[in-house]
Amino acid sequence: MKEPSTHPQRLAEGDRPAAIGPVKVPEYPGPQVISIRRGFITEIQPFPDRLGRSVPEPSHLAMPSFAEPHLHPDRAYVGSPRPPRSLDDAIEVGARPEGYIADTAAERARRLFSTLLTNGATRARGHVGCYPEHVAGPRWKVMGEVREQMKEVMEIELVAFAVVDTLTDREETSRLHRDLSIGRYQLIGGSPNHDSRPRDSISSMMELAVRTGVEVDVHIDETLDPARLLMDFALDEVESRRLEGRVSFSHCCLLSALPEQQTRSLARRMAGLGITVNCQPRTNLILHEYRVHSPRRALAPINLLIDEGVHVRLGVDNVDDTFCPFPTADTLEVGYLARVAGHLYDDARLISSLSDGRSTLRSGEKADLTLVEANTLNEALSIRPGRITMRNGVVVASGSN
Ligand SMILES: [Zn+2]
Repeated sequence: MKEPSTHPQRLAEGDRPAAIGPVKVPEYPGPQVISIRRGFITEIQPFPDRLGRSVPEPSHLAMPSFAEPHLHPDRAYVGSPRPPRSLDDAIEVGARPEGYIADTAAERARRLFSTLLTNGATRARGHVGCYPEHVAGPRWKVMGEVREQMKEVMEIELVAFAVVDTLTDREETSRLHRDLSIGRYQLIGGSPNHDSRPRDSISSMMELAVRTGVEVDVHIDETLDPARLLMDFALDEVESRRLEGRVSFSHCCLLSALPEQQTRSLARRMAGLGITVNCQPRTNLILHEYRVHSPRRALAPINLLIDEGVHVRLGVDNVDDTFCPFPTADTLEVGYLARVAGHLYDDARLISSLSDGRSTLRSGEKADLTLVEANTLNEALSIRPGRITMRNGVVVASGSN
């Protein structure tokens, strides 16, 4: 370490520190100093133990910055007349005129992404409804503008959320094909369990991915009814169309209600086809089994999936809308829920699921990190204190929400 290190508490927005420390870093013993050059981490070394001077106790835990895998940015903060009683109830209330307010969509989405940035995320993926009749206006346009406005501080991916039978409508699919081809959306998605011809919707979605080269992120089996299982069919489609490594399955609630053998065999197929599973503990827990005695909790079996080799990511999903009444958008809150409700006790697994597979910081990687004012991961997850977010070695946000 050549330069004196900057204490995290002295960092402010716009700073490009050459070295930060002392900090705690997962998997590294004792206080560390992180050296940064040209946007990359060049070294992580023990804080120098100078003769006669004791090493100050680190105030911050340095983690890989978060990659939020699943949001609905155009719906965020619209509020709701009451908490949802089921997923179908949330969809029905959300389809009413007050469930989606087009005029303020850009402003609300910016607020959502900025909140996540302050909370430590440098990447985020949002599902944006496209053409169903019950929604106002082409939302992709304003979401595309927000994506562009924020590109210096956050990498945003937009998923064409093709719902309400748009995937089996010829005119709509040709519009989707055009929009995906010109990059208006970076991924194709939908919720085929709620379409009238679910299998045809899946085939159409996979076909669009093949023809346009985009990736897929599909809400799948967000239900607890085994008769509605679609995952096996979707896996057949991924396999036959050779989309290995290009598909994410979001929610997968039904995996929590199938027999263990069947769940494991689906998990092994997912691992073999490079599927990523995005779990959303908060909405999964809210939207299912309302007023059911001994409720199943609808959370995909995170540890089983990881044991079988599946990549699991944890997402915030809905924020203060008809699907979820809570206004927080915090990756650490989602990690807390996964630890409590999904017994995700392993630190490396948990951090990986919040940071797109990065379990700690390593030299040679991009300096995308979040410094959380906490001593331990459990403290960070439960207290959720203020943070400093860095992208490419630059402080892009600091403070707390
Ligand atoms: Zn969703």
